[in-house]
Amino acid sequence: MRQLTGVPASDGIAIGPVFVYSVEVPPVERRQVPDPALELQRFDDAVTAVTERLIQIEQETKGGYSAEDFEILEVQRMLLTDDEYGGVIRTRIETERVNAEAAVEDVTRNLAQEFSEVEDDYFSQRAADIRDIGGRLLRTLANVADIDMAHLDRPVIVYAHDLTPSDTISFDPAKILGLCTETGSATSHTAILARSLGVPAVVGVGAAEITDGEEIVIDGGEGLVLVAPTQQMRGQYEVRMQQYSLERDALIGEAHEPAVTTDGRALEVVANVGSVVEAERAVELGAEGIGLLRTEFLFLERRQLPSESEQYEIYRRVADLYGDKPVIVRTLDVGGDKQLPSVKLPHEQNPFLGHRAIRLCLERTELFQTQLRALLRAGFERNILIMLPFVSTVPELKRALEQVEAARETLRANSEPYNPETKVGIMIEIPSAAVMADKLAPYVDFFSIGTNDLCQYTLAADRTNEQVAHIASPFDPAILRLIHMTIEAGHAHGKWVGMCGEMAGNQLALPLLLGLKLDEFSMAPAAVPAAKHRLRTLSQSDCVSVAGQCLDCEDAEAVRAILEGVQRDLPEDS
Ligand code: PEP
Ligand code: MG
Repeated sequence: MRQLTGVPASDGIAIGPVFVYSVEVPPVERRQVPDPALELQRFDDAVTAVTERLIQIEQETKGGYSAEDFEILEVQRMLLTDDEYGGVIRTRIETERVNAEAAVEDVTRNLAQEFSEVEDDYFSQRAADIRDIGGRLLRTLANVADIDMAHLDRPVIVYAHDLTPSDTISFDPAKILGLCTETGSATSHTAILARSLGVPAVVGVGAAEITDGEEIVIDGGEGLVLVAPTQQMRGQYEVRMQQYSLERDALIGEAHEPAVTTDGRALEVVANVGSVVEAERAVELGAEGIGLLRTEFLFLERRQLPSESEQYEIYRRVADLYGDKPVIVRTLDVGGDKQLPSVKLPHEQNPFLGHRAIRLCLERTELFQTQLRALLRAGFERNILIMLPFVSTVPELKRALEQVEAARETLRANSEPYNPETKVGIMIEIPSAAVMADKLAPYVDFFSIGTNDLCQYTLAADRTNEQVAHIASPFDPAILRLIHMTIEAGHAHGKWVGMCGEMAGNQLALPLLLGLKLDEFSMAPAAVPAAKHRLRTLSQSDCVSVAGQCLDCEDAEAVRAILEGVQRDLPEDS
């Protein structure tokens, strides 16, 4: 048995066989070949296999794809036999007498390079298509099976170096027992996706030798991974897994009760979601609305951003699930570790500090206007609120609000039904915004604190880097002071303040956040039942003094010690 330690990313225990997920292109060995005809045959066989696979993808994924997406699959198929690509590869094999892999690698690189040099979205997308098809050919030539995550024959624990949001969309959630990645921190998007799939996950375990099919145990609460566990260990974890599931069932049983503290304060417990399916699941788990709809996750598989009417339809569907309850939709937040195939971002030295989220929307106003119009229209007779991400200064906020006004004007001029009163709030996730919260507050209807980014920017610790994960603690007093300032500033201007960063669903943090007088708690749907349960056991007035002690601490350890003390003193069944 081997034990690995990583970052706890999603609670729960999973036991099962490992599926090693890797889409790396195998390294190419360059060789001269004595018989080019044989090599041509290998290449032609690979072309046939890739063509068949593309047709299969096309047939199986019809539901979620648009006409443009099908065109791309078709263009990729045509490339394989096209004179400029497939044809050049064949000529190279024949004239230079090199192996098929070397010819594919060279021609793919050259052609993709030519396309990417043209400053145009269409051509750079073609470059990505060429690299994609080249990778498929190389994997086929190396007999590396294409990973088909939509048709796993048994439930597995996925193990990967890293998982991007676009990797995970092809996963069949019913077959995923858990996730384990070599990189990442608790707030990296891999971890957030694991929580939204509702499966246990441990991230940032570092490079580990795990082979396909090996049995592992994941303890998502402790951040532990046991590879090839002994019979005894396995038995112990099976018992814990059963206990965990019984406790969970009990919490779900009372999830629809309101979250009112012992001294009568009613709190709003809402969910963070990235899809309509997740929004449905959140209703079942007792969420009283949506505190964060990450719209970029809705568009992950799209080669082009959806039209205004397609977006309207999605926002309308989510809002209809919640009736009068609030549904807060965040405008496009791309950049950093979230890339969309439909939004081309320029290469930047440091994308986390770059031209992302609201900054990009203020430049690509056509994209922003489309989304704003869809939201204002969907808000007609529905409780949709708009939330702007990544605001760093007052002038930036004013420019964004002008855009909202421009969208209203267009709709007014076109006599389209829309909600002129749609509330607009901002995320407080950049330290400058927290510091300036009193100046930002008069312009907005609400704040929602994004602790994931607030921690990474305040403590200068990349949220995707497991080496510095421990530094970016939401319990650091620097973060607590910024949260405190934000809540005070919001309340002084009569605005409510919520939190949609991962801290809001953290059991240990709840007494502290309650004591700081947070109004709304937004979290992964799976965390809702336990958070509501815990809030019902707390008293606002007791928590105020806990928060005061925490604000006065020197470091995160001291804050945790106070909160662990509070946890220990809670009644047995809570
Ligand atoms: C945050 O930064 O805390 C947040 C909720 O947004 P995201 O995790 O999508 O960056
Ligand atoms: Mg953020």
